[in-house]
Amino acid sequence: MTDLLLTGVRVWSNGDAACDLAIADGRIAAIGPGLSTDAPEVFDGRGCLVIPGLVDAHAHVDKTLWGTPWHPHQAGPSVLDKIENERRVLKTLGLSPEVQSARLLRHMVARGTTHVRTHVDIGPDVGLAHFHGVQAMRDSHRDWIDVEIVAFPQTGVMIRPGTLELLEQAVREGAEAVGGIDPVGIDRDPKGQLDGLFAIAERHGCGIDIHLHDRGDMGAVTIDMIVERTRALGLAGKVAISHAFCLGMLEPARLDGLIEALLELDIAIMTHAPSGPTPFPPIRLLHDRGVRLFSGSDGVRDTWGPLNTGDMLERAFLLAYRSGFRDDPSIEIALRMATYGGAAIMGAEGYGLTVGSAADLVLVEAETAAEAVAFHPPRRLVVKRGRVVARDGRSLLPPAA
Ligand SMILES: [Zn+2]
Repeated sequence: MTDLLLTGVRVWSNGDAACDLAIADGRIAAIGPGLSTDAPEVFDGRGCLVIPGLVDAHAHVDKTLWGTPWHPHQAGPSVLDKIENERRVLKTLGLSPEVQSARLLRHMVARGTTHVRTHVDIGPDVGLAHFHGVQAMRDSHRDWIDVEIVAFPQTGVMIRPGTLELLEQAVREGAEAVGGIDPVGIDRDPKGQLDGLFAIAERHGCGIDIHLHDRGDMGAVTIDMIVERTRALGLAGKVAISHAFCLGMLEPARLDGLIEALLELDIAIMTHAPSGPTPFPPIRLLHDRGVRLFSGSDGVRDTWGPLNTGDMLERAFLLAYRSGFRDDPSIEIALRMATYGGAAIMGAEGYGLTVGSAADLVLVEAETAAEAVAFHPPRRLVVKRGRVVARDGRSLLPPAA
């Protein structure tokens, strides 16, 4: 029996013609014109575009200031400045990672996000408190959104003794991946940090996702070291590099060698198209060569900056805008990063828009995918496993405490 019928919709990549989409038991049961069903709920799509649920595969929901009074940005320009400022502000504000992450998730659901992979701060100063907070939020939001956790050493690994043990404990307790941060720029010990992270991944079979802001050759050499370890430990397909600013500033021959290595070991690259003059990976080139790409909001309204909004259609717009994309096929690459790319990294079961896929989808007021990215208009309906979770831009989730 059909549970929900969407009439008069256009399905991304399924041609221009309007059709109906039937949902049963949390899955897409049929797509076609004039479906007649006994569905208890029928929604007039009025020509809206159906896209799969948006995937925010690089967020930091534990330390957002979402829902709190406006906080003027105070941090200095470097990564270290931002880390020090963050520790100071978070200590002063004393916010609950569980409540803050729930506040942001509610907003993300309203914007059509059905899957989030979040890096959660772990270190000697906060221990596993953020991790346990986000885990509790994940449990209470299971029916609304899928959440995956990367155990993230924000303040460094080798310069903070005890961090590796905490990261491993988080993986034992259910973190899906272990994170890292600038093995050279923060730790000044790339061998120590990378050997430690890869050993955890090897012991537990978890993924690795490393924040790499280090630029130029420092970043490129770090990627060489990540490649060596991925190959030596047989971790192909389990490793991602986030930001990888250096890929946007290398001379062609050096970049080409790195691309070959990324392809050989199926190492994925995450970019959120950073603001200002910050270099970032050449999306069109990497896509055309076949490198796996995904995206995320990164920090949303936190002490790193006030501008990110947690809207993955807007994120796709920013990816396209900063990349100088104008033609529809290029703009669609940005939307694929915000949907299929992130879903692949998360191993999202049944993700997609074909019959039999999980019914995680979004109705957008747009004719085409490129228009949806260009205008990132209101989301008319958001469906998670067949259930409506947001309508006309409003989440149906009750507000966080
Ligand atoms: Zn990040």
